[in-house]
Formats: sequence, C-alpha cells, structure tokens
Amino acid sequence: MQLVNPATEEPIAELEQAGVEETDVAVARAKAAFPAWRAVTPADRARLLRRLATLVEENGEELARIETRNVGKPISDSRGEVAMVADVFHFYAGAVDKHHGETIPVAGGVDMTFREPLGVVGLIVPWNFPLNISSWKLGPALASCNTVVLKPAELTPLSAVRLGELALEAGIPEGVVNVVVGKGSIVGQRLVEHPDVAKIGFTGSTEVGRSVMEGAAATIKRVTLELGGKSANVIFADADLEAAAAAAPYAVFGNAGQDCCARSRILVERSAYDRFLELLVEATRGVKVGDPEAESTEMGPLISAEQREKVASFVDGEPLFRGDAPDGRGFWFPCTLVEASNDDRVAREEVFGPVAAVIPFADEDDAIRLANATPYGLSGSIWTENGARALRVARAIDAGVLSLNANTSVRVQTPFGGFKQSGFGRELGMHALAGYSEIKNVFVAT
Ligand code: NAD
Repeated sequence: MQLVNPATEEPIAELEQAGVEETDVAVARAKAAFPAWRAVTPADRARLLRRLATLVEENGEELARIETRNVGKPISDSRGEVAMVADVFHFYAGAVDKHHGETIPVAGGVDMTFREPLGVVGLIVPWNFPLNISSWKLGPALASCNTVVLKPAELTPLSAVRLGELALEAGIPEGVVNVVVGKGSIVGQRLVEHPDVAKIGFTGSTEVGRSVMEGAAATIKRVTLELGGKSANVIFADADLEAAAAAAPYAVFGNAGQDCCARSRILVERSAYDRFLELLVEATRGVKVGDPEAESTEMGPLISAEQREKVASFVDGEPLFRGDAPDGRGFWFPCTLVEASNDDRVAREEVFGPVAAVIPFADEDDAIRLANATPYGLSGSIWTENGARALRVARAIDAGVLSLNANTSVRVQTPFGGFKQSGFGRELGMHALAGYSEIKNVFVAT
C-alpha cells in the first residue's frame, strides 16, 4: 500500500500488507516467545524497557519526523508525543516489580494472589496518535510479561514499524514484539478471532469497537476498548473567561480535531455567552495552520481526502467563524466554529476534524444535563472559579477523564479511558496493568 504525506499528497513509502497467513505466523512467533519472556527476571525486564525508553529518546527526532510526514502533525506536537512515549516506557520499567499480589486472611491456611500474564495479546491502534497509543498498550503489556502482536492503522504504520526495530535493538528478544502491517478487516479481524490471542487492546471508533467486542465473544477474549468521544468544555460565567477562551481552540483543533478527547462541544453559560464568543473567535483566529514541518505551526492537515469529506459534511451554511487554511495540495480544513443546539448532528456525532459546536446553557443543572446528553463519556473540562461547583459538576459528568480549569486528559501516571460508549478498561498509570494480567488466587492449607 502506498502511503502519502497528508500535507502534500506526495508518496512517502510503499509497504506490503500482511494477510491472514502472516498474522498467524506472527501470533505463533509471539506464542513461542512467551515462556522465555515470562522467565526473564523482573530486574532484567525493567532494564530492557528502560533501554527501549532510552532508544526512543536517542532516536526522538527521527521518530518525530516520521510521525509528522505520515500523520501531518505539527513537528512540535510530534516531538512532544515522542517524549511521552519514552516516559511511558520509563514508567512501565519502574512498574514491573510494583504490581504485586496480596495475602488475604482466611480460615485454615494462607491465601495469596498472583498477577499472571495473559500470554499473547493483540494490540490494534488508530491513525491519530500512532506512536503514543502503541506505547500506552505495549508498556503495560510487556511489563506484565505478555508477548504482543501490534497492528498499526493502515494509513500510519511507519512509526510503529520503527518502534518494533528499536525494541529488538534494545535487546527485547525476537518474537516478543511483532508488528504486523495490514488491513483492519483482515489482520485486525484475524487477531480478534485467533484462539491463541488472549486479549485485544483496541483503540479506534465506537463502531469498530463494537465489532471487536462481538468477535471476541467466540473465544471469551479479554478486551479493552478506547473508543470515540464527544466531550464537553463547560464554561461557567464565573470562570476566568480570558483563560478559558484562550485555551478552548487548542482543546478541539489540536491534531486538527482528530483527537478522541477533543472538546468539540463548547457549552457556555448564557449570561457570559456573547463575551465568551468574542474572545473565542479572537483566540481561534490566532491558531497557526500550515506546513507541519514548520516550527511554529499549531495545526496541520487532516489525515486523508476521505476524512476531509466527512468533516465537511458537518458544516452546512455559513459558520460563526471559519479560519484560514492553505489551498492547493494537502487535506486541509480550516478551524471552524458553529453555533448549535445539543440535538444538532454536529453536537451529537464525533466530527474528528477542526469543527467546534458552541452551545449555550442556562444554569448548573442544565450544563450537567447537556454534558451528559451523549452516548459517549470519554473526557471534558469545567471552567469556574467556584471550587465547590467545579467538584460538584466533575462528579456529575459521566466521563472517564475530566480537567478543571484546564483541557488536558492524558498523563503517563494517571488512568485514561471512557464511560458509556467511549469504551472500558483503563490505559496509562498503574491502572493499565490490570488489563494485561489475570488474578490467580492460591490457598495453602496450614
Ligand atoms: P477505526 O476504528 O477505523 O480503526 C482503528 C483500528 O482498528 C485500525 O488499526 C483499523 O485497521 C482496525 N480495524 C478496522 N476494522 C477492524 C476490524 N473489523 N477488526 C479489527 N480491527 C479493525 O478508527 P480510526 O479511524 O483509525 O481512528 C479514529 C477513531 O479512534 C475515532 O473514533 C477516535 O475517537 C478513536 N480514538 C479513541 C481513542 C481513545 O483512547 N478513546 C484514542 C484515539 C482515537
């Protein structure tokens, strides 16, 4: 398959697509590598993960350039993401010997628990954060002694292929990390069905997630699903409106809106609505859209022509604001603000592009009702200077990752994942290890 640079539409690489047979070979390799990998001492496993983290750092600029050319991300974003990948492997190197079992008081003996690895795990990754999301799964999977078959997205496999090479270079034994490039409907589907794959760690759309869950039922595979979102950025009239407005564009136009955590519904208390809108338009005008290789660029193109067409279908008529974007080659789409009701399609469905719906609300109850009026529950933000209200609303919103007076969702040390149809299971932090291990309970009669 030919890969193109989304900013120029120029070909950048041609990769062979694996089929079912190659997938089966990779699973068999991972299965064969499991016993020896499991026997590696905790200290040595930690050392190998730390070496991988160091290699990611040492090859950071190359990895960032690959990601920028393949995904169209601004180079400064790619550098930040690569730095996070290294931190993820450092974190899980440290976690190897800190995820332990318990001893439990019982009658007649001693009861203890062990965290056993699952065996071979299949990791399926989307195109919006190819390297980051690969590492969020690889780190805890390897720390927990599993061997893996990693399938990157069709459009963006290059950084995962390079990461696989670095894993080998780090000394992680052959067969422990297998990267298989191919179609979701073939390689992904085969991993879901394969009887020797114990778990699927999936990130992608809710639609495909649903079919992964269905397919996993046949072999009672474990699944972790990180799916879509339609997150709310809730701005109360008592917030620091300047700060909230300055931050809001980056929370939805970052990664050109192709972010599962995009705060694509901006809910604004009616009494502050007009003032906030003025500030928001001004801030959105300031987003620097253009060549992803340029140091100062803040937003690049969309991933593909197909994605651009889908995003465009959400904007009918004249929007409240439309920014500038390069014309000519590349899958460009400008930052776009539309006024909407929460029932409009643009407020209900995941756009996955730089389009934000601005929606007024009456009071705190109304804000909570609107924030929760979606089948998704991934992320969101609450802006208010009233601390009690901030916590009240945070507890009332059905979402897995919220921030108060900030728009960030992802940290190496903290659990990340969704409520409702945004999926289940948690990545990152110590919580992710639970998804890559099985609890075994052993009773010893004394
Ligand atoms: P997608 O669901 O189309 O594809 C995701 C992955 O699944 C790809 O590797 C694809 O090849 C594979 N796949 C496709 N069909 C399959 C099948 N039948 N069986 C097994 N695997 C299959 O998603 P996408 O378009 O690559 O990514 C965008 C979506 O991902 C958005 O909905 C976004 O919200 C979501 N996402 C979620 C998170 C999160 O952590 N919650 C993070 C990033 C992206």
